Parts: sequence; C-alpha cells; structure tokens
Amino acid sequence: MKTNSIPTTSYLHSSFGHPVLRSWSELNTNLTKESLIYPLFITDDANAVEEIKSLPDVYRYGVNKLEEVLTPLVRKGLKSVILFGVPKTAKKDNFGTSATSEANPVLPAIRLLRKKFSELLICCDVCLCAYTDHGHCGILKDGELENIASIQRLAEVAGTYALAGAHVVAPSDMMDGRILAIKNELIRIGKGSKTALMSYSAKFASSFYGPFRDAAESGVKGGGDRKCYQLPVGSRGLARRALQRDMAEGADMVMVKPGGPYLDIIRDGKVTGKLTRELCTNYPVAVYQVSGEYAMLWHGAKNGVFDLKVGVLESLTSFYRAGANVIITYYTPKILEWIDERNYPSKL
Ligand SMILES: [Zn+2]
Repeated sequence: MKTNSIPTTSYLHSSFGHPVLRSWSELNTNLTKESLIYPLFITDDANAVEEIKSLPDVYRYGVNKLEEVLTPLVRKGLKSVILFGVPKTAKKDNFGTSATSEANPVLPAIRLLRKKFSELLICCDVCLCAYTDHGHCGILKDGELENIASIQRLAEVAGTYALAGAHVVAPSDMMDGRILAIKNELIRIGKGSKTALMSYSAKFASSFYGPFRDAAESGVKGGGDRKCYQLPVGSRGLARRALQRDMAEGADMVMVKPGGPYLDIIRDGKVTGKLTRELCTNYPVAVYQVSGEYAMLWHGAKNGVFDLKVGVLESLTSFYRAGANVIITYYTPKILEWIDERNYPSKL
C-alpha cells in the first residue's frame, strides 16, 4: 500500500457528512448535547455487565446489553459514543489479528447501534493494544515497534470499522504516519468522504490513565511502557508538532488527552488549526476527560470536597474556554440530565 500518494485535504466531506459532525465545526462555546461523546467498553461476552472497580458507575458491556443501556440515554439526547473493544477470549498475537476478525466485539456493536439508533454518531477507537499479546499499540520486531507494519495494520483495523458502519475512526496509538495511512485506506475502500478521522494527536504519557487500563485491560505485558510513542508530560513543543503533523496528514478532528492538566495544549490545538489551514478557526478540537480525571472528581465529590455537578461543570467550562468543541467524558449520562435542568449558565 502506498501511504503518501493521495492528496488527503481534498476529502473535506468526511468532516460534515453527519449532523453531529457539522455541529462540531461550528464556532460553539456552549455546553450542548452534540458536543459530548460517551465512551463505551465492549467486551466479547455478549451478555456481560461488568463493574470496573477503579471507574465507579462505569461498566463493560456485551453487545446484547447495549440497546437496554443506550435507549434511555438516547431519549435524553445522547448524540455520540466512542467504542473500545475489550476482547477476553479472542486469541492475541503480535499482529492483533483478532482486531479485524469477528472475534472483535466492536464489529457487532457497530452494526447493532447503526440498526437500533439510526441518528447516533458512532466513533471507534482504533488501536492494537487490546488485541496484541504484548499489549503494545503496534507490531513488534526484535522487541522494537515496527512503524510501517504497525501503521498499515492500524489502517486495516480502521477500514474494518468503517466498513462495519462507524462514522468516525479515532486512532489512539500516536505513531508517525498513521493518519495518512488510515486516510489512504479509507479512500481505497470507498469510505474516504464518508468516514471521518479523529486523531488522538496530543496524547500524553499521563498518570491519569490508570482506571482506563483497568477498564480496557490494556496494560503493557512483560514490562515496558508506551512512553516511546506517547508525549512526555512536559513537552508542549512536541504536542504542537504532533497536532500540526496530524492536521497536515488529513485528520478531520484532533484530540488532546487528558484534558484538565493540558488546557494549554487544547488552546494550541485551536491555534494550530488556524495556522495550518488559513482562517480555519473552527477546526474541531476534541478533549478526552480521562478515567483518572473522572475518578478524581467522583471521589472528591463523594468525600464532600465539592458538589459533583458544580465540579464537573467547572471542568467542562475550562475545556470550552480553552477552545475545545467536543468533549469525551464518562460523565455524559449525568451531563445530559444537567443540561435539561438548565439551572446553570447556558453560555459557558
Ligand atoms: Zn493502544
């Protein structure tokens, strides 16, 4: 596969094919239901509802439980979800082979959600770490990550999700070249102008991911960590370069992760959008309020340090103020209710 042959920037339509995607490109600083994405962990036991100890009130679900879980949320105005596969029985290997097979629980989940919730925007996290036997986000050769093989494999996974019906694919590995490789693969399979690409562009090697690794069971096995492909906590310069790189390779949206400790990077994402694409102040920037931030707010409120609603809304306000258009948060079900209560300032 050639990874650098197609002018990706001509595929702008992928950014506004769905009404929720169109709302992300508006210059909007209000807290709206359209701007929220709810993360869902999908496991391969079809009837499972599994508690996640370090993420209170968040569960892993089997595909048979999704309709029951999402119906009341969609009624409350849920517009978008992002799916993470947590395969437990699938065979794992160096190539993450099961990610593109029916052993991947995300594939039946996409099909079910498309059928049952026709207006829901379906985003899929794209990575290999849940499907590899070593837990790294790419393919290893002699103990080292092999870049070209890894990004080609990630492109295959993204293409599989797109063909199953995902509206947005979101690669979270942070490896060089994967945005262009995925964009080219989407074009090759006829999804170039239909499936949008949201890049985890500025993903830091953060201490706030602990509960997520518990939820996704995606820790690195046999030692080692992901610091060689996630950004060093102190590096604003590398984050800016990563944002520019992904925008130049054809990402439709970029993401900053985590949120609270990286508000300056959200702002950089907004400004980088303006610099990279002339007058493009509405380049959508997403922020992931990660599991550790969720748990910190939850435990703080539970212990009487602050009111949960006030604390969560303050954290969201800071994201919007920094320039975020889209917020991925485990608090989405609660926020949908708080928006309906309308007893907070509507203009954040
Ligand atoms: Zn990964």
